[in-house]
Amino acid sequence: MFETGVRQLRLALAMVWGRPLNVGVLTGLVDDALATLREFGEPGDDVGQLVDGPFADPTVRRDLTERALRRTARRLVNVSPFYAQRFAAAGVDPRRLTVDNLGELPLTVKADLVAEPRAFLCAGSTPVISTRTTGSTGAPVEIWLSRYEASMWPAFAALSGILRGEIGPTDAMQVCLSSRATAAVQQDVGVCRLAGARADVVGLVPPDEALDAMLHGKPTILATYPSYLALLIKAAARRGVGPAEFRLRRVDTGGEVLSTALAAAARETFGTPNINDTFAMTEVLPVTGRSCNLGHLHHDLNTGHVEVLSVATGEPATAGELGTVVITPYYPYRECMPVFRYDTRDLVRVLPDGPLGCDLAGTPATSLILGKFEGLPRGAATGGRAAGAGSRAAGATTRDLVEALEALPTRPWPARFRAEVLDDGRLGLTLPHSTVDGFGADAVTTHLADRGLDVELRIVADDEATALRAVRADLIESTFTTRAY
Ligand SMILES: [Zn+2]
Repeated sequence: MFETGVRQLRLALAMVWGRPLNVGVLTGLVDDALATLREFGEPGDDVGQLVDGPFADPTVRRDLTERALRRTARRLVNVSPFYAQRFAAAGVDPRRLTVDNLGELPLTVKADLVAEPRAFLCAGSTPVISTRTTGSTGAPVEIWLSRYEASMWPAFAALSGILRGEIGPTDAMQVCLSSRATAAVQQDVGVCRLAGARADVVGLVPPDEALDAMLHGKPTILATYPSYLALLIKAAARRGVGPAEFRLRRVDTGGEVLSTALAAAARETFGTPNINDTFAMTEVLPVTGRSCNLGHLHHDLNTGHVEVLSVATGEPATAGELGTVVITPYYPYRECMPVFRYDTRDLVRVLPDGPLGCDLAGTPATSLILGKFEGLPRGAATGGRAAGAGSRAAGATTRDLVEALEALPTRPWPARFRAEVLDDGRLGLTLPHSTVDGFGADAVTTHLADRGLDVELRIVADDEATALRAVRADLIESTFTTRAY
């Protein structure tokens, strides 16, 4: 029975943390799931819950979390040169790790990975594929994966995707991601292959070409970045194409802030209500996060531990506080180049205590990602951190600004701006001319004030727009299509 197989897998995940998972068993379960769907039309009543794993159960979560953290740490001190040194220097014994004393081990930051990447490679694992970060905050990080990781992650994602009805043999996925985001592209292609779906890797090409691919290929799923989604929406509007010409059932975005206004425009343009704001980050794969119907972010706690540390104090953030997300992927989900207590610099707010009341209420949640810590406006004169201090203006997150600006009637998608804290403590906001054009700078100031943003505007020419704020859509690759012969 297929359900028995999933139940056994769930038990195996809880009990046999110390050993690598059997990828063959996982892909066998994927095939069984597809066969069950073919025969019965649905995978069974409680299979959806089963695939959420043992960590969805709060009564066992703490015990499993600590066991997973200890096993992950014990392996790292044996095989990771970086963490052998780091645990020894901090005097932290992996066998005594708890959720409460985890803070004794310093955070791992991007600079550590950039400075000595080889120190993170674990003895006994063979790197076979590298993937690079495509974020806009400094030099890219290169992460190596083993063959085991490269085949296990898609198998897991395919199994849960099939059981949740998110992907199947009738689907076609168009992937508009940077070609350097190897892990994400590989993951999407692998999931499609296992689920029997079609994968169309279009890349970050000029948006009219990606739109052509959508009109001809009729994908059911689009995977892209919010800023590139913005370009696709604008291209569709320019060409007068609408919902009748698409058959998308879902758009998955990640890597950037997806604003309410842009998501609404995507629904209208592509004719699907499902515009998802997901979390994934190269350094902490395969730990991902899903957004729910109430706009929370729910991390997958089966694959890793998630902490939120206060931006103001560095201690665990309390309800309502702004914090940075720190993630520890567990062994055996990560093998070749794992990180422990990795500071993603992604900001969230901790939700108030109490029932969540959403469609993913079985697992803990935070606010959606509010932007990067580095995106918090700083004082131009002092260069000092404005985080946590003083006025609301100083604490404005990237999401606050993107939400407010992208809701303007001028439709400045993706929003381009530079924010800084002025000497008088107010927020100085530099915008390109097209953002205020036809609406007026005063009306923009009022619009922002209505959303709690007290700003002093500065308007610059449109050719400075991309220099104000880099987005992933700026990574567009050239093609031969538009070249004249
Ligand atoms: Zn929720």
